Amino acid sequence: MVDMDKIVSLCKRRGFIFQSSEIYGGTGSCWDYGPLGVELKNNVKHAWWRDSVQNRADMVGLDASILMHPRVWKASGHLDHFTDPMVDCRACKKRFRADKLEDDVWVHYCEATKGNKFNIPGGEACKHCGANRTLCPACGKGELTEPRQFNLMFKTFMGPVEDDAAVTYLRPETAQGIFVNFDNVLQSMRMKLPFGIAQIGKSFRNEITPGNFTFRSREFEQMEIEFFVMPGTDEEWHQKWIDERFAWYPKYGIHKENIRLREHEKDELAHYAKRTADIEYLFPMGWSELEGIANRTDFDLKQHAQFSGRALDYFDEERKQKVVPFVIEPSAGADRATLAFLVDAYREEEVRSEKRVVLNFHPELAPIKFAVLPLLKKNDRIVETATRLTADLRKRWHSVYDDTASIGRLYRRQDEVGTPFCVTVDVQTVGDEKSPADEKVTIRDRNTMQQIRVPMSALETLMDRLMAGKWANTVQEFGLFKD
Ligand SMILES: [Zn+2]
Ligand SMILES: [Zn+2]
Repeated sequence: MVDMDKIVSLCKRRGFIFQSSEIYGGTGSCWDYGPLGVELKNNVKHAWWRDSVQNRADMVGLDASILMHPRVWKASGHLDHFTDPMVDCRACKKRFRADKLEDDVWVHYCEATKGNKFNIPGGEACKHCGANRTLCPACGKGELTEPRQFNLMFKTFMGPVEDDAAVTYLRPETAQGIFVNFDNVLQSMRMKLPFGIAQIGKSFRNEITPGNFTFRSREFEQMEIEFFVMPGTDEEWHQKWIDERFAWYPKYGIHKENIRLREHEKDELAHYAKRTADIEYLFPMGWSELEGIANRTDFDLKQHAQFSGRALDYFDEERKQKVVPFVIEPSAGADRATLAFLVDAYREEEVRSEKRVVLNFHPELAPIKFAVLPLLKKNDRIVETATRLTADLRKRWHSVYDDTASIGRLYRRQDEVGTPFCVTVDVQTVGDEKSPADEKVTIRDRNTMQQIRVPMSALETLMDRLMAGKWANTVQEFGLFKD
């Protein structure tokens, strides 16, 4: 398993992910997706959207606003319950999560050894005096305050007046935008149960201890589905969605041994949930949540009906009665999924006694699909042909042209950002005084580093095949090319 520092460094070096406002020293846990990162993340979101919405008859999409009526957060329970218990140090003013105080190393000035300073592992006592931690774990001197509940929502003001009436919040989850639009979607689209509403959007949580690169940040993007079902069919639908979502990640290249399902214990369940299963990924810091799939029951629709005074139910034609649907919620993180695909794709190999770094992305997720490389950049006909080919390929796939290094270097560069195929234009392609043009180009496969030589006229058709994962068949047809 690759360590996170390598991923962070590759991401910065090759334009995937930068720290936000880096020239000002950076902000706490906010990240910017660079030119290749935005392509990768867009591809992840697009794959999710197509599989969750466009390819299903029982799903529709939504894009709700981030700022909502503040009553939404009263009804949802976020105002009262979306809190962490916090303590402050009276000396150094640092703030800690009360329930995580024993997790990290603590500083101790030991009286048994003339006040010497020790760093003691979290949860352990001092070996010299036997004392447990009671003071601030960071400075070792300050008393801690009693725990206070700290709400994780970002507070802001709507309109020009900063008074209590204008207080509103940046949404901490996209789900509520779906619940408050339940009736709008039901009526306008004439939906029949069971059906789902999907949404991709930013959410904000004022986490006290963000970290692990983009895994936990204060601003993040969710890919959420609220799937409404007849009460009584909820358990069956929940299991279907767990299976469906668990199969989704390997479809785009995640190795099966790197994901697992984890069932929530009864005491761990959110107040609205009947059952929750997490899909976990083996990140460099250990198994961590990639997606949660919860049975939210009829909690949210009932709450919003009560707080808004508007009925949020469904008329069951068969039984001629109104019902409040149950909700199954597969809730995935776009940033976490992107990070998992990056980590999972990372490989270091030895090729002719040189290190090769390769991102083994699924072709659909790769930020760049094709790189067109001229073998000689001083040959005008080669450059002209390569430029034209790039323009043709660009009409359908994100492709680049690069002539800024030797061919070996150019291949390594594309391997490192996960470009599945390189197309090379050489002297034979365009011909010279000695021999006529053969109108063929070589295609190199990132994973096997094998090459084939194919007619330029067939390139677009072949690229469709290669994008569908049919390298081996294509090699059979054209034979391996050795230069
Ligand atoms: Zn302190
Ligand atoms: Zn001690």
